[in-house]
Amino acid sequence: MPKPRILSGMRPTGALHLGNLMGALDNWVRLQDSYDCFYTIVDWHSLTTDYADPGPVRQNVLEVAIDWLAAGLDPARSVLFVQSQVPEHAELHLLLSMITPVPWLERVPTYKEQQEQLQEKDLSTYGFLGYPLLQTADIVIYKADAVPVGEDQAAHVELTREVVRRFNHLYRPVFPEPKTLHTEAKRIPGTDGRKMSKSYGNAIFMKDPPQVVRQKLKPMVTDPARKRRTDPGDPGVCPVFDLHRVFSPPASQEWAAAGCRSAGIGCLDCKARLADHMLERLAEVHARRPEFESRPDTVWDVLRDGNKRARAVAQATMSEVREAMQVAYPPFAS
Ligand code: SF4
Repeated sequence: MPKPRILSGMRPTGALHLGNLMGALDNWVRLQDSYDCFYTIVDWHSLTTDYADPGPVRQNVLEVAIDWLAAGLDPARSVLFVQSQVPEHAELHLLLSMITPVPWLERVPTYKEQQEQLQEKDLSTYGFLGYPLLQTADIVIYKADAVPVGEDQAAHVELTREVVRRFNHLYRPVFPEPKTLHTEAKRIPGTDGRKMSKSYGNAIFMKDPPQVVRQKLKPMVTDPARKRRTDPGDPGVCPVFDLHRVFSPPASQEWAAAGCRSAGIGCLDCKARLADHMLERLAEVHARRPEFESRPDTVWDVLRDGNKRARAVAQATMSEVREAMQVAYPPFAS
C-alpha cells in the first residue's frame, strides 16, 4: 500500500534558526518514516510580502536547502524542490482563482493580522490576498492527503478543503480533501524573550558554531524580577527555562527549576547548562552541514532532481485539471 502523501513548505528567508528546527524541521524529518513527503521552498510566497525588496533569493534558497539537509531531510525518501521551478503551481492557482469567492480569502485570519503587523508594507495587493490560494494550489497539485501545520495555518488548510469541494462538485472529483496533521506547537523564544524570528534579530541559527551559541545565550532575557544572584527566580516566567523545556532532559530541567527558585544557581550557570544541551542537539546538524556547505553544486543537484520529480506529478495532475475545466486541446501545429 502506498504511503499517504504530505506537502509542506518554507519560505527562503536564508539561514534557518532553532525555531525553524524545533518547530517544523524536526517533525518533517520524523514524518519521512511514515509519509510520502514533498517539501518545497516557496519562493513565490516570499514575493507576496517582500515584492518590493526580494533580496538575494537564490542565495537564500541555497541556505534553506543546506539547513534542510543538515537537519536530516533525506532526498532519497523525500522530494525537496523549489516552488517556482514547477510553474504548474501558477497555472493551477490561476484556474482555482476562477472558482474561489473573494470573501473566502478575505476571511482567512492571517490576511488581516499580517496587514496590521506589517504596516510598513503595502499588502493591499492581489498577490497577498491570493496567497492562501497559491498555498492551496501547492498542496492539491500533489494530491496531498495531509498537511503538517501549526495552529496558525489551520485556516489555510480549511480553505484548501473548501476549494477542493467546490472544484470536485463543479467539474469532477480530481483532488482529495487534505487533512490537517497537527504538530505540537513548541514555544521557542529568541534571546530577547519574544518569539524567535530572524527579523527580530533574536535568533540562534542552526549553523551558529558552539562559541556563538554560548555568546548569544549569555545576555538572554531572564525572569525580570531576578535582579541579583541572591534573588530567587520564577522559571515559569523565564524564556531561558522555556528553552530548557525544549532542549534539556528532565533531570536538568529539575536542577534549573529548583536552583532558580532557591537562588542556588545563578542565571549564567543555568544558561551554560542549557547551552550544553542545545549543542548536544545541534551536534548532528553541525556534523552534517560542512559537507553540504562546501559543495553547493551537490545541493543544487538535489533540488534539480526534486524539481523534476515534483514536476512530473504536477504535470499529471494538471492534465486532469485541464480536462475537467475543458481547457485541454490536441497539440497545435507549430
Ligand atoms: S536561573 Fe535560569 S530559569 Fe531562573 S531566571 Fe535565571 S535563567 Fe531563568
